[in-house]
Amino acid sequence: MKKYDFIIAGGGMAGLSLAYYLTQSPLRDRSILLIDRDQKNRNDRTWCYWERGEGAFESILYRIWNQVEFHGPTLSGLLDMGSYRYKMLRGIDFYTFMDSHLARFSNIERRQATINRIKDTPQGGFVIADDEPFIADYVFDSTYALNLTIPENHNLLQHFKGWVIKIDQPFFDVSRPRMMDFRVPQQGDCRFVYVLPFDEQTALIEYTLFNDKLLTDAEYDNDLHQYIQNHLNGLQFDIRETEFGVIPMSDVTTQENPSKHIIRIGTSGGYTKPSTGYTFQRTQRYLRSLVDSLAQTGRPQRPVSWWQKRYKFFDSIMLNVLEKHRYPADAMFSVLYERNPAERVFQFLDEEDKFFDDLRVMNSMPKWPFTVALFDVLRRKFVS
Ligand SMILES: Cc1cc2nc3c(=O)[nH]c(=O)nc-3n(C[C@H](O)[C@H](O)[C@H](O)COP(=O)(O)OP(=O)(O)OC[C@H]3O[C@@H](n4cnc5c(N)ncnc54)[C@H](O)[C@@H]3O)c2cc1C
Repeated sequence: MKKYDFIIAGGGMAGLSLAYYLTQSPLRDRSILLIDRDQKNRNDRTWCYWERGEGAFESILYRIWNQVEFHGPTLSGLLDMGSYRYKMLRGIDFYTFMDSHLARFSNIERRQATINRIKDTPQGGFVIADDEPFIADYVFDSTYALNLTIPENHNLLQHFKGWVIKIDQPFFDVSRPRMMDFRVPQQGDCRFVYVLPFDEQTALIEYTLFNDKLLTDAEYDNDLHQYIQNHLNGLQFDIRETEFGVIPMSDVTTQENPSKHIIRIGTSGGYTKPSTGYTFQRTQRYLRSLVDSLAQTGRPQRPVSWWQKRYKFFDSIMLNVLEKHRYPADAMFSVLYERNPAERVFQFLDEEDKFFDDLRVMNSMPKWPFTVALFDVLRRKFVS
């Protein structure tokens, strides 16, 4: 059996990004096997994220905006993002870009197969895919399913259904995407809509919830229809594409390095920001750091200081406020953007370690519900 340097289990966003960063590093000649059960030839998701300056995928961005709208109970209008830009990348453009980039490296093999097992052995990381065994010095796994049932954790879900709609006359302002529009019935939850305009007649309208229970398909459709009815002046529209997704919003402790030869990456590695569900940019940052460390030390371990880990605690507090409905979510996000420039909020969510700015963000939140949440998190994590 051939032994690879690296096997990448799962060639989705994280697996493909890892392969890409390896090709940009001193490890570019290493033998790599990339396995995914899908062909990745459909536009199965759209990623949005904020970023300063130019990123690795600038040439394939679908849209880029320098302002976003927010609509909540006490704040409604444009947010100034300072040096950040809000970017949109379509799944299909990312997969196509990766196909042609990785095809230039003869040391990278790609296989379409279902992975049945991943196991550590003294000889290396061992993978069985479609009943065939493979072995490597390191297996990077993005197929592992997180355990979202442990009671001391907060296990919310971010779930959404989106339609790309085309309307029969110019309507959208292409320079003003709506990042969070809370003008929908909250029904005791956190519910909002994204409106991401592609051109004056076409936009992705995405109805998003943070809670622990999925809706029926008919419920998502009904609420999307309602929003379009109320906010698009009742214009006629065609649905061109549909997107549905569920992202874990959990403070479960993830083992990025569960054993010597296995490393979890992407959602499986806990790269999703628990309090927002944003994963794309964190994955890029974390993988760059992982590849740097692998190239420099020979060990694929992302350095994380104990001080940096405090953000996980802040995430737990935020999840606790949401899960226990300690403060209305629409009002909470309004307060956040009312009392802080968006640039400071994005920095905080990106965990940039700006101590005084972080303090200002925390200090701006409603004191009582966040204090109660803090004590509840301590009780859940350390007492029960
Ligand atoms: C519809 C949708 C929209 C999203 N939008 C955003 C966004 O706007 N911004 C943001 O930051 N995040 C977003 N996310 C969250 C996150 O960025 C994505 O889920 C991202 O794709 C996660 O990357 P990943 O590599 O961990 O998982 P995936 O991209 O899902 O990759 C995992 C891969 O493993 C493969 N696989 C799984 N099991 C097996 C198996 N047994 N055998 C073989 N292959 C297997 C799958 O086919 C898949 O290709 C979105 C998620 C979804 C679902």
